Amino acid sequence: MAVDRFGRNIHYLRISLTDRCNLRCVYCMPENMSFEPTAHLLQYDEILTLMRVFVDLGFDKFRLTGGEPTVYPDIVDLVGEMRGILGPEGRIAMTTNAVLLPNLAEPLARAGLNRCNISLDTLDRERFKAITRRDRVEDVFAGIRAAEEAGLLPVKINTVVVRGFNDEQDVVDIAALSIDNDWHVRFIEMMPFGEVADFQQSQIVTEQELIERIECALGPLEPMYGGRVIGEARLFRLAGSRGHLGFISSVTQPFCASCTRARLTADGRLRLCLLRDGEVDVLTPLRQGATETELKAIIRDAVWHKPWGHGLQQNVIPVGRVMSQIGG
Ligand code: SAM
Ligand code: SF4
Repeated sequence: MAVDRFGRNIHYLRISLTDRCNLRCVYCMPENMSFEPTAHLLQYDEILTLMRVFVDLGFDKFRLTGGEPTVYPDIVDLVGEMRGILGPEGRIAMTTNAVLLPNLAEPLARAGLNRCNISLDTLDRERFKAITRRDRVEDVFAGIRAAEEAGLLPVKINTVVVRGFNDEQDVVDIAALSIDNDWHVRFIEMMPFGEVADFQQSQIVTEQELIERIECALGPLEPMYGGRVIGEARLFRLAGSRGHLGFISSVTQPFCASCTRARLTADGRLRLCLLRDGEVDVLTPLRQGATETELKAIIRDAVWHKPWGHGLQQNVIPVGRVMSQIGG
């Protein structure tokens, strides 16, 4: 088991497989993003070695992310090997833009992927192009259906709300998807990173604002679980809906006290808080021949020093990297 100084049991690892992506979302990366040379990133066997170490330390929830995890060349084989290491009980999930899911959802499910969170900020083709700088919204819709058919359930739709881009009709249209579909729609507050932090902070839209907009268009939102935050989201239901919707407000309402996560960046750094710059290099010891026992000690020590929470309220903003490099 890996515990931190505050007694939190850290057992959920998000692995960024690559910093590359087939979209260029305005809040995530610039159009001319420069990617790391592949040799600087964790290689296939290195990911599996680290996975074995994390499983030995009691980690039982893994999420593959990036960048875009589906552009990782051997993604289906990798998921299959990960499932072999983890065994049938643990959970392997993915966060994806879904563009490549029409071909990949079924093989990924067969290889052992349990579920996926799909990022979608608008249903409108032109606004999709404005946000992602690519014309792929049709592929995303097809990808969502493919995920559903492949049994990657429940389908979760994650929407980052950006003032002036998708904070009006899009929010309502996406919330309405939860009426006829058994989907979990989650609205995510934009978080500040690196060089785009000023843009991200000035365009943030709060949960209260969104609730008012959705209720005005679609009727009252009934709070679920007494309005408590479950995991990371506060959940609501529209009257008669098959699915539900939620708000992940990491900036204005942090859920740090119940955080059980660590992140492995694509270049092999262990990052204990998404919103703090501190990282521990595991790639270098791995390449220098550290044994699994030695790697375990490095990871245990890093987990022990996990920061209590982010410092956004004190104006401490992560500056080193953008989200796609850390793994969202
Ligand atoms: N490419 C995949 C995708 O978009 O789902 C996985 C990686 S992406 C970095 C993971 C999630 O982070 C996406 O839902 C994306 O919308 C979100 N994201 C990116 N930059 C963000 C930011 N500045 N604040 C909040 N969420 C962000
Ligand atoms: Fe790519 Fe995901 Fe970042 Fe959009 S949010 S640019 S899809 S990594």
